[in-house]
Amino acid sequence: MGCDLGAPVNGVLTIATTVAPITSIVANIAGGTSTLVTGIVPEGTNSHTFEPKPSDAATLESADIVFINGLVLEEPTKDLALANLKDGANVCELGTHVLPESDYIYDFSFPKEGGKPNPHLWTNPPMAKQYAQVVHDVLVRRDPANAATYDSNFTAFSAKIDALDAAMVTATATVPESQCKLVTYHDAYAYFAKHYGYTVVGALQPSSFNEPTPKEIGDLINQVKTENVKAIFGSEVFPSPILEQIGAETDVRYVDVLRDDDLIGEPGDAEHSWLGLMRFDFVTMVEALGGDASALKSLDVSDVAKDTAVYPQ
Ligand SMILES: [Zn+2]
Repeated sequence: MGCDLGAPVNGVLTIATTVAPITSIVANIAGGTSTLVTGIVPEGTNSHTFEPKPSDAATLESADIVFINGLVLEEPTKDLALANLKDGANVCELGTHVLPESDYIYDFSFPKEGGKPNPHLWTNPPMAKQYAQVVHDVLVRRDPANAATYDSNFTAFSAKIDALDAAMVTATATVPESQCKLVTYHDAYAYFAKHYGYTVVGALQPSSFNEPTPKEIGDLINQVKTENVKAIFGSEVFPSPILEQIGAETDVRYVDVLRDDDLIGEPGDAEHSWLGLMRFDFVTMVEALGGDASALKSLDVSDVAKDTAVYPQ
């Protein structure tokens, strides 16, 4: 399934979304109109195993469009949406729509035999821009009365994404090439790494989301030592004592604050946005790997229009 543009609706456009980064991307395109945007997945929860509450059915059945990441990330929410969609409404799978199957990345945490590709396209800015483009095209089609606002929001948001992308290229160029290596707990940076030229030496979280086995941990410790990895990155949403243990055993710096779908601060804060989240992660990585993140720090990561989306907490 990808994304049908659908038909124009009468009255105010109502949108449901899943994870907070997608809610923020949609809110950037919809800002300044009366379009309603409501997220489903609370920030700080495991979006990969999230089960919607029965009460989420009400949000889904009032939506004209349900934007999800797709790539098999949110199947329970997608199923609940499909069971409750009103006439003329549809589910738009952004990731499934923009990523050709030949570009799917499978790895340790998302093995091919599990049938779930790595779904984290939004941590790679050019792919997030493709999401924004699809959202723009759908909104213009469904709500032509606000087309001019959606157009100008997309233009302004694209420029900010391009600036973030360029700043990350600049910042990455200051990281010694031999240190452009990522060891993470949660495996959210596969497409990001490919785009910016980082090597994912390892991502430790098994596809079951249980803790890794002693053998898996031992193998990674050996790899961290052989590859001379500069830092290892934990996830704020998935605290794990194991990376800390690996850090101690290998004498490598352990940074436990990366986050893939939990925005920074609280709704209403300037950095509570996809842009703020990505900047935070990129600065964290570049600095821990010995680079200079000043190009990223000088970016304006505020939303292009006031974000009036509802973010469940
Ligand atoms: Zn994730």
